[in-house]
Amino acid sequence: MAYKTIYPYNNKVLKEYENASDEDLEQALSAGHQVYQQWRTEDPRSRGVILQKVADLMKQKRTDLAQAMTYDMGKLLTESLGEVDLCIWIAEYYAEHGSYLLQPEPLDTKKGHGYYLKQATGVLVAVEPWNFPLYQVMRVFAPNFMVGNPIILKSASICPTSVQMFADLVQDAGAPKGAFTNLFIDYDQVARAIEDPRVAGVCLTGSERAGASVAQSAGKALKKSTLELGGNDAFIILADADWDELKQVVPQARLYNAGQVCTSSKRFIVMDSMYDQFLEILQTAFSQVKMGDPMDEATTLAPLSSKGAKEKLQSQVDAAIAGGAKVYYGNQPVDLPGQFFQPTILTDIAHDNPIFDQELFGPVASVYRVHDEAEAIALANDSSYGLGGTVFSSDLEHAKKVAAQVETGMSFINAGWSSTPDMPFGGIKNSGYGRELSALGIESFINYHLVLEP
Ligand code: NAP
Repeated sequence: MAYKTIYPYNNKVLKEYENASDEDLEQALSAGHQVYQQWRTEDPRSRGVILQKVADLMKQKRTDLAQAMTYDMGKLLTESLGEVDLCIWIAEYYAEHGSYLLQPEPLDTKKGHGYYLKQATGVLVAVEPWNFPLYQVMRVFAPNFMVGNPIILKSASICPTSVQMFADLVQDAGAPKGAFTNLFIDYDQVARAIEDPRVAGVCLTGSERAGASVAQSAGKALKKSTLELGGNDAFIILADADWDELKQVVPQARLYNAGQVCTSSKRFIVMDSMYDQFLEILQTAFSQVKMGDPMDEATTLAPLSSKGAKEKLQSQVDAAIAGGAKVYYGNQPVDLPGQFFQPTILTDIAHDNPIFDQELFGPVASVYRVHDEAEAIALANDSSYGLGGTVFSSDLEHAKKVAAQVETGMSFINAGWSSTPDMPFGGIKNSGYGRELSALGIESFINYHLVLEP
């Protein structure tokens, strides 16, 4: 059984699930297709009512959902509660604005007057990761529910319990059977589902390896795909940065969710004159974390999501050191049974270091020294990723000018990453393609159906 809840705080196996059969998959495809046919002629406003009910049920089950996420992948309960709140916000945003965003768009052309409808395209396969078990799912479920695209979900195998609760809740809210089906399927079944003629597209959030595999299946079957992949986001600190503000932002920008966020700030790029001062600030913040029980409000750093995640991160840090990087702080074993990783600061990472162009998915900060702004921008862009990033400056115009030169999908000025329902989320280069959330996200899998009047 591949799908298991193993609590990373104490390594106990709390729940195991049978894999879905091919028959289960067929039923989900068939039910999803029927729902799509039914929804095609229905006003999205009727789905908005159900989506609002999903949000209401999430409010009622807020603590249960949050605890389930913490048991699945170890994040702090306070972070899990915040994630449920964000899911509620997304559901309410699309319940309120979805039908407006899907209004036909009028067109005046040389041929005459017309418009294009924004219509559903069919069942989607959604492959989602473990680092935000519910938020990632809500990002695709809520907009596509309004559009009328049913979803078959393949979640990460380490977070089955919280995701199944989400699926049950959608049913309880009154969604028709087949509108959203969580299936514990394997990679081959995902590939077969993508090939199925009833499926219109696939969205994936995860690693480049998974993205390339799923996009290949989609390409072969001529299906649309969107990919939300990893990041190695730069945090550029300009010479005129406000250090009081910086001190507030830096710790969470790297350590939130135990550093397991695609848009965590992973590379801190600092001017030569402030390099030592910055390292001191970072070390102070990193040395003050309190590791321990994620359910305890006093804990500030959770374990990593799994034994495998910890081993991978350690092997990357080891490779970085073997390749010439220096440990400014951390990298000591943590005397706790769970999958804890001490916050670590790496410096002197040369261009040929094995981790120079890798994502470190955990509480490890890479700090780079640069001599001027041009060098900072060039270093930020010297990456195969392009997801998010931060620019810090007390001069807003200055920060905006620099941000515009960074090759990335999202830039945050004087702040770490953030995500709200009304802001598009996504990247470029190996960080993927397409956008989720906002007015852009609802259009990922629609048919722009042109109608030209005589
Ligand atoms: P992962 O190993 O790629 O897994 C992501 C999902 O893909 C899981 O459901 C996984 O299933 C599935 N999967 C993997 N290989 C597959 C294949 N060949 N065919 C079908 N499904 C496949 O990534 P992860 O470790 O869970 O997540 C961390 C990564 O996600 C990081 O790189 C992070 O930056 C990225 N991420 C990106 C965003 C964004 O919005 N850009 C947001 C969050 C996370 P199993 O669990 O069964 O392997």
